[in-house]
Amino acid sequence: MITKIIDEAEIQKAKKYIGYVEQIVIVTHISPDGDAIGSSLALYHFLLEMDKQVNVIVPNEFPEFLRWMKGANDIIIHEKNPQIAEETIAAAELIFCLDFNVLKRIEKLGPLVTQSKAKKVMIDHHLSPEIFCNVTMSYPQISSTSEMIFRLICRMGFFEDINKKCAECIYTGMMTDTGAFTYNSNNSEIYYIIGELIKKGINKDKIYALVYNTSSIDRLRLQGYVMYEKMKIFPEYKTSLITLSQKELDKFNFKKGDTEGFVNIPLVSDEIVFSALIKEDKGFVKISLRSKGDFPCNQFATERFNGGGHLNAAGGEYFGSFDNAIKHFEKVLPEYQKLLLKN
Ligand code: 5GP
Ligand code: MN
Repeated sequence: MITKIIDEAEIQKAKKYIGYVEQIVIVTHISPDGDAIGSSLALYHFLLEMDKQVNVIVPNEFPEFLRWMKGANDIIIHEKNPQIAEETIAAAELIFCLDFNVLKRIEKLGPLVTQSKAKKVMIDHHLSPEIFCNVTMSYPQISSTSEMIFRLICRMGFFEDINKKCAECIYTGMMTDTGAFTYNSNNSEIYYIIGELIKKGINKDKIYALVYNTSSIDRLRLQGYVMYEKMKIFPEYKTSLITLSQKELDKFNFKKGDTEGFVNIPLVSDEIVFSALIKEDKGFVKISLRSKGDFPCNQFATERFNGGGHLNAAGGEYFGSFDNAIKHFEKVLPEYQKLLLKN
């Protein structure tokens, strides 16, 4: 059995809203990852099962390795179809905000969501949620939003209505937000839930392969290049830094998602507790952070890179040039030496 972590009043309120309305929109964060798409499509399949009219709307494109999920082709991408996205949000009677805690994370969708008169329900597992919803289900102790969706559906009394498509999406988000159950995954209830999902017909080995064994040859070569040429080690801080400029990415025919997972690789060394990847994107500079032990990536991201996230996985942005982002990282790193060497 699983513990009742989510507050009963929140569950009942969400259930009541779902019962009252016809048109539902689900939104999730910019550069959606496996948990963002997994939780959104899981809720989508469940609500379809409830005979609702439901749309998933994301700010921008998501990686190819999530395209296989049922319903992925129905997702409305605001950057590509702004008018449809805006009209759909305007017509919504209920909006679910999944896998993000602050409006900034949905970029241009933010004002559309706040201006809407629809009831709003946040379902998320990041610290310090902004309060802009009628119900704020915020549980940082749960390792993925997808797991929260499973818990919510069960607590509303609809376990029977979880179909195979929904179960596959839940599993995908649980898997990707725990690095295929290698971190943030010591809660035995995760494995109870996986057992239930397998009973729904999912093939967990196949899902792993669909998500992780999809590398192009270009990506494999980029990985080799990154590890050999681009990983700078700061032994005195047990830190590694990978940097990738737009020019380098172009050389390897970069496609969205190609650098996914690179930032985790240096942590396989017992000499590294903190790994960073700085990537030049179109018009901005993105940083991804990963750590072992209790070095707080989210604190570093918030204090230094306008970002946030979790203890061991966080990210942010730098508002300036790529070169200056690297200089900024190297300049502030020594201030974290004490925290870094504790681990
Ligand atoms: P990734 O490195 O995979 O892009 O992001 C890891 C985690 O860091 C995400 O799941 C998210 O929680 C957080 N994160 C990444 N980028 C940002 C950002 O720009 N702002 C905030 N607040 N969090 C971020
Ligand atoms: Mn998540």
